[in-house]
Amino acid sequence: MRKVSIFGATGSIGQNTIDLIKRDPSAYDVVALSGGQNIQQLAEDAVVLGADVAVTADETRLSELRAALGDSGVEAAAGARAIVEAACRPADWVMSAIVGAAGLPPGLAALQQGATLALANKESLVTAGQLIMETAQNHGGRILPVDSEHSAVFQALVGEDMDAVERIVITASGGAFRDWSLEDMARATPEQASSHPNWNMGQRITVDSASMFNKALEVIETKEFFNCSHEQIEVLVHPESLVHALVGFKDGALMAHVGPPDMRHAIGYALHWPERQHLPVARLDLANIGALHFRAPDPQRYPALRLAHEVLELGGHAGAVFNAAKERALDAFLDHRIGFLQMADVVEEVLSQLSPSHCLKNAEMSLDTVTETDHVARRTADTVIEQLA
Ligand code: NAD
Ligand code: MG
Repeated sequence: MRKVSIFGATGSIGQNTIDLIKRDPSAYDVVALSGGQNIQQLAEDAVVLGADVAVTADETRLSELRAALGDSGVEAAAGARAIVEAACRPADWVMSAIVGAAGLPPGLAALQQGATLALANKESLVTAGQLIMETAQNHGGRILPVDSEHSAVFQALVGEDMDAVERIVITASGGAFRDWSLEDMARATPEQASSHPNWNMGQRITVDSASMFNKALEVIETKEFFNCSHEQIEVLVHPESLVHALVGFKDGALMAHVGPPDMRHAIGYALHWPERQHLPVARLDLANIGALHFRAPDPQRYPALRLAHEVLELGGHAGAVFNAAKERALDAFLDHRIGFLQMADVVEEVLSQLSPSHCLKNAEMSLDTVTETDHVARRTADTVIEQLA
């Protein structure tokens, strides 16, 4: 039996992971599950899966979690520190599916005990790419990408040499406002930004898909994970969301990964890697689909993509600045304090204010320096937002 833990178990990725595990419960020994506000879901899954411990991020809800777990024998814990402690418990395979920078500490803890980390939490790579890759290397841990584009690239690279790679193309659906005018985007509400044409995901990543901040994070994630140069990374708008990524080789070949927009494919690939096993995802009928469309992203509508390349040119802790500013700008948009297009203005302004002090190439990187940068960038973003609002 493989020991598995799932952080962010109550979210969209977490629930898809649990769906796969529940289909073959005798193969897994569940160590830890973590969640946030959805105590009932967390407790129910922890009991059904027979987890050793269930942890909620919210310290004020420990007694509620304890009550929901009843006499099941599942231990209850709460708070950010308890999540990291749970990630220190030995496990073979750990799903990192917390949303935001909060996913970094438990991911690092899991790698430090040599686990295979299935990484959905792209913010870990964006904020601390060098640190997380080195931690995996130094402790015999392994990272398997779960973001669909990165899983697709990873699969296209099986048996290939990175030296033979010319470019990596990740696709974007274009999100909720794919065909909207700039004027309409400027007036878009959080409700409008929260529905995705193809994927069913958590609210924050759905809004980030509409602004392409999600794709910007993924450009940085690609650079950090595959160790290519940022000039080799391209983004292509592909409204059908069936081709997830393409790898271009120096002989001119393009290897595309094609599959249904169902995260259980990428999660299942990471769960069973290096084998492939049957997965309960739809089989594509390409004759029926008929046509696939691609177009270049409009830089005017998606400034986040330009900012991602700037972050990669800056280096150092620029990723942590970018992510933290983006998280605060997203909070402000969701609270109706700034407009949809102003999110990019906030991030750009924070980057320009902090790049002389916090985006130095070759700066030492540790969890402390990343956390400090994250805090400074959040405070700076809040000031910029106040001035805008
Ligand atoms: P979600 O909002 O559905 O779930 C997030 C999970 O994190 C929940 O369990 C929540 O309780 C927990 N959480 C939230 N804030 C927390 C905090 N401060 N501390 C601890 N736990 C906290 O999000 P999601 O869509 O499942 O996305 C999870 C991660 O996976 C994100 O990094 C996202 O970018 C990435 N991802 C998601 C998808 C997708 O299809 N949903 C695809 C690719 C990558
Ligand atoms: Mg993705």
